[in-house]
Amino acid sequence: MNPHRQQTAKISIGRVPIGGGAPISVQSMTNTLTSDAAATIAQIQALTAAGCDIVRVSVPDAESLAAFGSIRRACPIPVVADIHFDYRLAVGAIEAGADAIRINPGNIGARDKVKAVAQAAIAHGVPVRVGVNMGSVKRALLNRFGEDRVGALVESAREQVELLEDLGVNAIKVSLKSSDVRETVEAYRRYAAISNWPLHLGVTEAGTLFSGSIRSSAGMGILLYEGIGDTIRVSLSADPVREVMAGNILLECLGLRSQGIRVIACPTCARACADIPTIAAQVEEAVSGIKTHLVVAVMGCIVNGPGEARDADLGVACDPKGAMLFVNGRPTRRIAISEIVPALLNEIEKETPS
Ligand code: SF4
Repeated sequence: MNPHRQQTAKISIGRVPIGGGAPISVQSMTNTLTSDAAATIAQIQALTAAGCDIVRVSVPDAESLAAFGSIRRACPIPVVADIHFDYRLAVGAIEAGADAIRINPGNIGARDKVKAVAQAAIAHGVPVRVGVNMGSVKRALLNRFGEDRVGALVESAREQVELLEDLGVNAIKVSLKSSDVRETVEAYRRYAAISNWPLHLGVTEAGTLFSGSIRSSAGMGILLYEGIGDTIRVSLSADPVREVMAGNILLECLGLRSQGIRVIACPTCARACADIPTIAAQVEEAVSGIKTHLVVAVMGCIVNGPGEARDADLGVACDPKGAMLFVNGRPTRRIAISEIVPALLNEIEKETPS
């Protein structure tokens, strides 16, 4: 664990602690219709299996609110209700059992409406996430800060948090997002310097699976490496299970989470004796929710294969006649290329407590 993590206040979303040195949690958000409770519950179960710690669900209308309670009751992980514009939906979601709510107080409206949400949150012991986005910063603030767009974003968060504090809310987390990675990094740095509420990291509208993973990793990687951030979401225009996989990998490779299977695979070249990308992807997909920390190497030939496979907990090094399976640094048996995925999954299962 990074010894330099910035100390923040500790809050809890359901049974998951956030801030105050708690492990950094991975979040995602459903993209089913919330009014379709069965589909939403199924997606949350898939996210949970992939290692998601906390899930967020949009509650955009009365039909979604009507389904929210049954979704919450069926879910194995804490559920955050995401509300915009209508304070009654926020109050309703809290009363229906939300473990936290995400609002942008700036679009909830008049102070008495924010107050109603704050009172419901306090009464039910539910934390409030203040989520400010560059796209919704008020024009007046943008004008006041001129070219300092980040300053306007930070001030927007500061004002909104101050409003909730004035209303008595004592469990808050904050996100400050821009689709521009450098603005996002700067905003979190500046806000972290003036507040000790836990921070929810994300790069908003990050993009597709490929570009979004890179953009999120670049932005959040910098911040996490500086000790900033208590919970993360990799936002992708893709199956949200991919968000969870990406978030877990990001934390693991920064040494912030020593759990999960790290699949390393060679980039392949003309020497490759097997379809390494497909094999590695199949293994990664199959093990995404496993908590045990193992390194698994999938290597295309004998140039670097035996060395990497020996250094890993489990590995295969392919050659023209098949592959050598390595377990805990030792070559154990020869297998056919078609046996690589089942053989690795079998060995992983042996190393994983049930
Ligand atoms: Fe190429 Fe072999 Fe290196 Fe893979 S391990 S990139 S196949 S030389």
